[in-house]
Amino acid sequence: MTEIIVQKFGGTSVGSVERIDAVAEIIKEASKSKKIIVVVSAMGGETNRLVKLAKHFDKDPDKREFDALVSTGETVSSALLAMALQSKGIKARSYSASQISMRTTDSYSKAKILDVDADKILNTIKDNTIPIITGFQGVTAGGDVTTLGRGGSDTTAVAIAAQVGAERCDIYTDVDGIFTTDPKVVPNAKKLDSITMEEMLELASQGAKVMQTRAVEFANKYNVPVRVLSSFNDGSGTLISQKDESMENSVVSGIAFQKDQVKFTLHGVGDTPGTAFKILGPISDAEVEVDVIVQNVSVDGKTDFTFTVASEDQDVVNKVIKTSKNDVQYKDLIVNSDIAKVSLVGAGMRSQTGVASRAFKALSENDVNIQIICTSEIKITMVIDEVLVDKAVQVLHEEFELEK
Ligand code: ADP
Ligand code: ASP
Ligand code: MG
Repeated sequence: MTEIIVQKFGGTSVGSVERIDAVAEIIKEASKSKKIIVVVSAMGGETNRLVKLAKHFDKDPDKREFDALVSTGETVSSALLAMALQSKGIKARSYSASQISMRTTDSYSKAKILDVDADKILNTIKDNTIPIITGFQGVTAGGDVTTLGRGGSDTTAVAIAAQVGAERCDIYTDVDGIFTTDPKVVPNAKKLDSITMEEMLELASQGAKVMQTRAVEFANKYNVPVRVLSSFNDGSGTLISQKDESMENSVVSGIAFQKDQVKFTLHGVGDTPGTAFKILGPISDAEVEVDVIVQNVSVDGKTDFTFTVASEDQDVVNKVIKTSKNDVQYKDLIVNSDIAKVSLVGAGMRSQTGVASRAFKALSENDVNIQIICTSEIKITMVIDEVLVDKAVQVLHEEFELEK
């Protein structure tokens, strides 16, 4: 059979009927030489609108109903795109998650994909019909609708590409590819021709929202080549590949940042075995992802324990910590929601030293105070004041000459 390409179109790419028409042209052209499977996001801004609506009656609405509501944006765009293709004489059919049995766990709003009915999709393309699948949505074993977390259509697309053995997954978006940092913050950021899965994974998990982290994890695990490219401009985009395609490793490949973070510090906790688990265990049970974690040197058997989470998890974490107050003895709980993370990522950091000190020097010369530093083999993350993020990213981008 002809090779299969999965094409995913994000919100801005299908933000209006004119855009949907332009996307239908891209699909029509590609379908001349390949079998195409399409995954589509909600029209730009629609998911935000639905989230706001969902919170009208209760700030913390029922989780099942929340997902039932916010998943509907994708239902609209998939049917509309099928209609646009049909109007051009191309056979197309929209499919919701339940129609293709996109089975997930039942953790609403953070559901994980378990399985998908690849045969149904493959039979559709055998029939020379283009399946237009709703991204972001899933369905539990009991038939309830779930969602995969913000940006989840990327993961839908890569998961389907893995299941059907596609040649590649093309993620169409509103920028020309993966850049050295968000081009909205650094206008002269450079587009990369290729990037390794490993680097992309770090960039995504540290906030580069151009691809959802789970999508990169899937691509890496199932060996799906992914290309990120624009649905607005022609161009070959950026290839995310297992192997390093570039001749030489630049020490820093990209800079990611994440606003909407909260820092929790438990001041004066006992420096005893099991304390970290007592603090973080219940938080993990509440399905909250904890990122930067630091524990200080102890003085008189007491220490400070600090970690960060996304702002949307602040209330849950607050509740969890208060209920474990008897288990975990601490003097004060300090919560700071005016923080952000900035991360330098580069496979070249493995073999080159001095990156951290160069970054610290550049930031200090520009009056950016670093609150926490946390490193891994190919990444340096710094927690700073939220209002200084754009400046910090610009300073670091210039320091490491990433525009060149
Ligand atoms: P879509 O609606 O297509 O899913 P998203 O808004 O989720 O698009 O992701 C694309 C956006 O990601 C870009 O418009 C850009 O602002 C942002 N972004 C952040 N970091 C990067 C990066 N390193 N390279 C490219 N885009 C980035
Ligand atoms: N529509 C969803 C969101 O806005 C999923 C996606 O676009 O990937 O998060
Ligand atoms: Mg997205």
